[in-house]
Amino acid sequence: MRRILMAGNWKMNCTRPEASRLAEAVVSGVADMPLDKPKAGPVDVVMCPPFTALETVSAIVSGSAVALGAQDIFWESSGAYTGEVSPDMLLDVGCSCVIVGHSERRQYMSETDEMVNRKARAALDAGLSVMMCVGETLEEREAGKMEEIVKREIVNGLGDINAERLKSFAVAYEPIWAIGTGKTATPQQANEAHQFIRRTVADIYGEEVAQMLTIQYGGSVKPDNIADLIAQSDIDGALVGGASLKADSFLKIVEAAL
Ligand code: PEP
Repeated sequence: MRRILMAGNWKMNCTRPEASRLAEAVVSGVADMPLDKPKAGPVDVVMCPPFTALETVSAIVSGSAVALGAQDIFWESSGAYTGEVSPDMLLDVGCSCVIVGHSERRQYMSETDEMVNRKARAALDAGLSVMMCVGETLEEREAGKMEEIVKREIVNGLGDINAERLKSFAVAYEPIWAIGTGKTATPQQANEAHQFIRRTVADIYGEEVAQMLTIQYGGSVKPDNIADLIAQSDIDGALVGGASLKADSFLKIVEAAL
């Protein structure tokens, strides 16, 4: 049975007092949920605040069912890399996972597949689990290039990562045209892309490994569309941006996985 992964990406939002309020509300809402006993598979819940709020949120999630994730990582362990944050620093502040390759970083910070792969490998080496984002632009989808783009990001992103490591790995399919736009991929469109990702992973690692891989959907996930998305055969969770900034909407999204 695949693990379901429901993660909130807070992006560049929340001062520490705001982060405290949001994290406290999520932790207390999740406390009553039977996360280990849903029909579909155990549910992991993760919050990914900005770096400046990690320590604050870490203290709040400590001992709870909610894990702490970072939104980015650098591949070197220390040194003259101004502005970067190392794997050990994330572990030190209490993170157990990290997002790599978010489309906003690919787009605004010119992150390449190779950089995403280096980040993923460094995170896994340090014992962090990884959510690696992939997805096509609207232009690419309309030009019939979704599979080409997603395959390239998957194959390059997974370079030199062995099958054993995929136990700590999730792929987040996030069509760029659906991120923060209010446009969601239809459940069928999303499921087709997830099936394509699973086939691509199967070609590299074999069917058994691909069947165990958690593939999240991301792109304007809301309380009113999550049920149809999570009901699809190959959608194993969500990476939620805007709707993770309100505890009640994030909790409703998590609840839908139960
Ligand atoms: C995201 O940033 O990963 C995301 C999916 O954002 P939103 O839910 O706001 O579209």
